[in-house]
Amino acid sequence: MSMREPRCPVKKTLLLNNNYEVLQFIVERKLFKLLYKDKLWIEETWQQDLPWLHGIIKYPAVVRLKNMIKRNFTVATFSRGILIKRDKNQCQYCGIKLPYYQITVDHVIPKSQGGTHSFTNCVVACHPCNNRKDNKTPEQAGMKLLNLPTHPSFSAHHSITDNQDYWHPSWDGFLSNS
Ligand SMILES: [Zn+2]
Repeated sequence: MSMREPRCPVKKTLLLNNNYEVLQFIVERKLFKLLYKDKLWIEETWQQDLPWLHGIIKYPAVVRLKNMIKRNFTVATFSRGILIKRDKNQCQYCGIKLPYYQITVDHVIPKSQGGTHSFTNCVVACHPCNNRKDNKTPEQAGMKLLNLPTHPSFSAHHSITDNQDYWHPSWDGFLSNS
């Protein structure tokens, strides 16, 4: 086990709901806000110290909300930007990396067949693949998805590995349960 843990001002913190459900990774500013309002239990910490109020605490790696919040995975929470980040700008059919302006959003199960406009039914696609797939399911079009679309909080590591951020060993357990 490596004890090497370089100082890094942008260490992230995994935010859990009161029932340990994974919500998202948060950065310093949001963490401080929640800590200041006394809304968090600290579950796991980094080695790094953090001056806090009149003392020093260890920088939190996992925090849990003292009060349960209702997660709302409706259409309203869907975001094209987060979808693109989740899929790493990559067409989920042919694998090509796309510049932002060439990205289209494909409904895996077409809306005409009852598919929803949601994280679990939308993927990044290039124009040619999107055209080829047309109003068909991947099976009907004879195409295969590189990754099954998930809600971003279920694959929260996407927001971490992109930036080569530090990975806290405790995160694996929380994320694999979600
Ligand atoms: Zn493609």
